[in-house]
Amino acid sequence: MGFDSARSDLVDRLLDAGRIDRPATERALRAVPRHEFVPVSRREAAYEDRPLPIGEGQTISAPHMVAVMSDLLAPDPGDRILEVGTGCGYHAAVTAEIVDDTVYSVEVERALADRARDRFDRLGYDVRVRVGDGFDGWPAKAPYDGAYLTCAPESVPDRIVEQVRPGGRIVAPVGRDRQELLRLTRRADGGIDRETHGGVRFVPMRSPDD
Ligand code: SAH
Repeated sequence: MGFDSARSDLVDRLLDAGRIDRPATERALRAVPRHEFVPVSRREAAYEDRPLPIGEGQTISAPHMVAVMSDLLAPDPGDRILEVGTGCGYHAAVTAEIVDDTVYSVEVERALADRARDRFDRLGYDVRVRVGDGFDGWPAKAPYDGAYLTCAPESVPDRIVEQVRPGGRIVAPVGRDRQELLRLTRRADGGIDRETHGGVRFVPMRSPDD
């Protein structure tokens, strides 16, 4: 089976399983060639619904997890989005299919950032990658309408919360041994609404000198 039909079957299965709510999420998953984001030796598995190794001890998230997080973040086309944890760049490409603005992504591991940049250039995705510590976010491009993390901190860093505008959302796996997927919404009055969306497993967010 070719990659295009394998991708289309995968998205059909995710829809049947109720893993995708928003049409924008569905369109993005149908569009992004996940096989271009995994090592060549893993391409045959690119359209199975599971994480895969991408080098440097990191993984590309399972397609259903990218779908669930995109639905929770629910970006509008005009939104500016911050990602922490570029990895291979797949999730950022999905986000870039949904929004018109540049997607801003921070990655701590230079080798991964370099490879992701090459892919974005080659495939034509408007994603900018900064090598650095995601705990700091990317203040120069703030405020963001939304932010998401693809690595798990023990709690959502304040610096990221501060860079999201009132009314904006943050989707993040949080915890050390047990992680939960959280969605925080900044209220206009300065408060934060917090919802939990089940147990998840992401690589830990680490500091650059670990
Ligand atoms: N978004 C990717 C998944 C990346 S895995 C996808 O589309 O599948 C998580 C990534 O977070 C790894 O690449 C890891 O290097 C990165 N990471 C871990 N700690 C970080 C930190 N403090 N700042 C930025 N990135 C970090």
